[in-house]
Amino acid sequence: MDSGTMTASSVRRPAVTRECYAPIELYAPNRDPAGIDLSDNTNRWGIPPAAARTIREDMVERVTRYPDLYASSLKRALAAYVGVDPSMIVTGCGSDDVLDSAIRAFGEPGDRIAVPDPSFAMVPLFARMNALVPRAIPLTDRYDLSAAAVAGVEARITYICSPNNPTGTPIPRPTIEAVLASSDGVVIVDEAYAEFADDSVVDLTSASARLLVVRTMSKAFGLAGLRVGYAIGNPALVAEVEKSRGPYKVSGIAERAAIAALTEDADWVRAHVALVRTNRDRLSAEFRRRGIDPIPSAANFVLAPVRGAEEIARGMRDRGVAVRPFSQLRAVSPALRATGGSAIRVSIGPWGELEAALDAFDHARIEGREEDVPCV
Ligand code: PMP
Repeated sequence: MDSGTMTASSVRRPAVTRECYAPIELYAPNRDPAGIDLSDNTNRWGIPPAAARTIREDMVERVTRYPDLYASSLKRALAAYVGVDPSMIVTGCGSDDVLDSAIRAFGEPGDRIAVPDPSFAMVPLFARMNALVPRAIPLTDRYDLSAAAVAGVEARITYICSPNNPTGTPIPRPTIEAVLASSDGVVIVDEAYAEFADDSVVDLTSASARLLVVRTMSKAFGLAGLRVGYAIGNPALVAEVEKSRGPYKVSGIAERAAIAALTEDADWVRAHVALVRTNRDRLSAEFRRRGIDPIPSAANFVLAPVRGAEEIARGMRDRGVAVRPFSQLRAVSPALRATGGSAIRVSIGPWGELEAALDAFDHARIEGREEDVPCV
């Protein structure tokens, strides 16, 4: 095979690699360019103005020097934004990096990590990359989590995503409190989509020495390309994550732009979060009009259970719209059972983009049906 066409899975693993890496597949969803990309839940309105201005002004000057070791100015800005002391913040190269660092900091090789299912696909990967054993906890039929089921796993770390990706559903605060009360490991609550939701459990971090809340500037703040994530927790807890994360993880340009966004772009962020909420309701209503049962979302995306998700996503892509298909989600609810766990996840953007997505969806469905017609 030509090396230019080799895929990750076609490359033979050399004998020197770690055993626990054998089942790890490279995370590689389809990211081919599309005219309207509604596949990755980033901000479709772009970058906030003060962050953009800072990047333009800083671009050249910053690159010859190392950034601040642990992004102390950014920590202060994030602390003011979430309303905690800066000693309760750790940052990272995207929240992916913060999650990975936290798993490495708190889990010994061989330890179990409880992960709801369905949930954010990267977490079982980070677990395996750190030689931990992921244990799937099925969500309930109302997309909640059973604290008893979590306790039964006796995990060193419990991961909870709220609002949950890909369902969009929040995990209720009493559930998170019950998980904390009934386990003695670290509880990581991933609030990547918190700005679009009604509740957050950041306030619980000052009362618990085992709760770490992970956030990102990739979604509501529109800075996914800069890779800025952070976590909030007890100072002793975040100090361990900081050791595991190591120095220089946030670039100087990213740090300055993130600070500008946090301190000067609050109105921009608020206005676009409000638009997401409005358009989320409108898109859900349009799906319902088409006889589809979208899952009620508290995030900046909607999961619509539909049969043939992969084919529909391909058909939509042919019309210039990318959405994220899932063919085999664990069918925990009646809506997901009705399609055998097949669903498309659509990021919420400006209404014009969602109209184009609906149009592409309608065509993809009709074409799919035509292919079903037997040849006579
Ligand atoms: N957590 C969740 C639930 C996500 O959906 C994502 C992005 N898809 C991340 C974390 C990672 O985001 P980032 O690394 O850009 O901060």
